[in-house]
Parts: sequence; C-alpha cells; structure tokens
Amino acid sequence: MIPYGRQDIREEDVQAVLDVLRSDFLTQGPVVTRFEEALSGAVNARHAVATNSATSALHVACLALGVGPGDTVWTSPNTFVASANCARYCGAEVDFVDIDPSTGNISVVALREKLDVARREGRIPKALIPVHYAGQPCDMTVIAELAEDYGFSVIEDASHAIGAAWGDEPVGSCRFSDITVFSFHPVKIVTTGEGGMAVTNDTELADRMSRLRSHGITRDPGLMDRDPDGSWYYQQVELGFNYRMTDLAAALGISQLSRLSMYVERRRQLAARYDRMLSGLPCAPLDRMPGVASAWHLYVIRLSDPARRREVFDHLKGEGVGVNVHYIPVHLQPYYGALGFSQGQFPAAESFYASALTLPLHPRLSDEEQSHVVDALRDALEE
Ligand SMILES: *Cc1c(COP(=O)(O)O)cnc(C)c1O
Repeated sequence: MIPYGRQDIREEDVQAVLDVLRSDFLTQGPVVTRFEEALSGAVNARHAVATNSATSALHVACLALGVGPGDTVWTSPNTFVASANCARYCGAEVDFVDIDPSTGNISVVALREKLDVARREGRIPKALIPVHYAGQPCDMTVIAELAEDYGFSVIEDASHAIGAAWGDEPVGSCRFSDITVFSFHPVKIVTTGEGGMAVTNDTELADRMSRLRSHGITRDPGLMDRDPDGSWYYQQVELGFNYRMTDLAAALGISQLSRLSMYVERRRQLAARYDRMLSGLPCAPLDRMPGVASAWHLYVIRLSDPARRREVFDHLKGEGVGVNVHYIPVHLQPYYGALGFSQGQFPAAESFYASALTLPLHPRLSDEEQSHVVDALRDALEE
C-alpha cells in the first residue's frame, strides 16, 4: 500500500537517537533545549517550548493565554479534533468559523461576520485557533487585524505547516499571532515519533507554557511565596502536567529538522506534478493563495461528483493506493453533537468534506508510485 503520508528515517537519525540512549539523559535534558533553539531559529521565533504532542502544546497555549471556564475559543471545523479539544480541556466553550471551500482554510469573510454578531451580543471569543490546512497558511494579515480590532488572542495551529511562509516570513515567526504550534507526528513534515512545539515572541507566555508542561513547578525564587529552603527547593505554583518531550525524541527532531527545506521542496515538486497529471480529470486541487508558500503536508483534491467519492476511495484502496479524507467536520463528531452542534451549521465545511480526497504525498513517494496513483484515479473516475 502506498501510504498517504509517511516518515523518512535515515541512518543519521538512527545514530542521533542512539547517541542519546548512551548519554545521561533520556527524558527532557540538554537535547530538548538544543531542539528548541534549532526550531525557534528555523522559524524566526524568540522562544520555543517542546512538548510530547501538538495536542499538549495547544492545551498549554490556551492555558497560558488565560482560556478558562466562561470563555469561548473559535476554530475551523475542517481540522483534526485536537484543535477544538484543547479549549474543552480548559473548561471553555468551542465554536467554529466556516471555511473557504477553495482552500479549506477558515473564511475571513465568515470570521468578520461572526465577530460583528458576537460584538453585538457581547461574546467575543477569548482566542481564535486558525489551522493552516494542508500546509497553506491562512490569511493571517486579516486575522491579525481582526484580533486587534475585536480583542482576542490568536494561536496558529501549524501542525501541517512547518516550512510554509508568507513571502519571506516563515510560519512560526508569530508576527500575526500570540503563539504558533507545530506537530511532529510521523505523518507530518518533520517527526519526533510523538511530539509538538509551541513558539512565541512573548517571554511571559513562554515561561508559563514551560511551567505548565512540567507540573506547574518553578525553581525561580522570584515566583515563590517564601525564601527557598536550599538549592534543592522548588515550588508548585499552579496545576500543570507532565507534557515533556524526551531527549530521544528531540535528537530525532534535530536531525529531521536539518532536512526541512529538502522535504518541503520535494513535496512541492510532487504537488506540481500532480497538478499537471490531473488536469482534465473531473476533480480539482485546492486554490493557491498568491504570496504564500505551502509546506504541502497534504495533497487534497475535490471530486466534481461527490456522490462517487466512496466508490473512488474504495477503488484506489483496491489498487494499493492509501488515500484518506481530511476532515470529517469536527462539529459533526458525536462529542460535539452532544454539546449542541448539528448538521447544516457550517455548510462549506460539510460540502468540502463530502467531495474531498487526500492523495499520497510524502518525500519518499517516487515518480513511479505517483504515476500509479494517478492511473488508478483516472480508472476510477472514468469507469
Ligand atoms: C496532527 C494534528 C494535531 C495533533 O497533533 P499531535 O502531535 O498528534 O497531538 C493538531 N491539529 C492538527 C491540524 C493536526 O493535523
């Protein structure tokens, strides 16, 4: 089966992990710090806080921004459930902003309309979590202006988008947001097995997130309510978690990160080749926004005839092509249904889901495999 996404592990990655296994630290130690420095350097952010998943990073990001009971967090319905769940962990309500079906990203038109209504009703969200779907950045200049006008925080869910950019500005520089979160799950662009990272330019947010990832414990005497008993002393000043990344994972991350631009370039080439080979078939790729560079986490097409999606999906699987669908709208999950969401509330995300199909795209996909994917798709669509 040709997978829709897959990690690329090389001998140098294996060696980097073995070196840590033979060192003094297995859990969070000096290699995590080095990975944080390498990543914040790569994306041009001041601070980075490594965690054991992007889900944990989203959770501590929400907490650091003060999200709690009585607050509402908005995100896209066209995402993985973690983008919404992080607000629920904090006891906050979740609401969604419908998407622009040409890109799968949050619609800034829908966002502005929803904010106007929210302002009249006195319920502006505490935070917005835009998701850079498939690796293509959202319209962050507009989102940042709206955040300023209406007064809400912004956490970019860049799980798909390490290596993406607006012009020369890398996703992760946090020029348009308070915090940006990356995922290092093996299907993503760079992997640590499980792992995530929150980056920010705000020192207080970084300190708060790093405390929350490790039990809410501090060794900073300035934060304690009395003088330390000695150099062993620490205090737990709030309720935190064990969300730490291991040095083993960080070593893999550093090694992988050194190939980021190579990975994104190969993904971009494969995407351009799909574009050429698929032209003329009854399906369309996502629109590309001018001035932005996608990281190409996913290659998504929309079928002209959604009624045939299931049959096309099954045909491709039968031909050894590991297709996938991104995403079942989050508001249609039973957990969110029980909170009052229902079919018809976010029609653009629902119709996007009905016609979307994700074709295999990863750096080890060969031209021959890709041609096989396209042949199988052509057969299915022309049947
Ligand atoms: C993968 C993903 C996550 C969760 O990442 P983990 O590292 O698996 O916790 C969150 N949001 C989006 C959009 C994702 O694709």
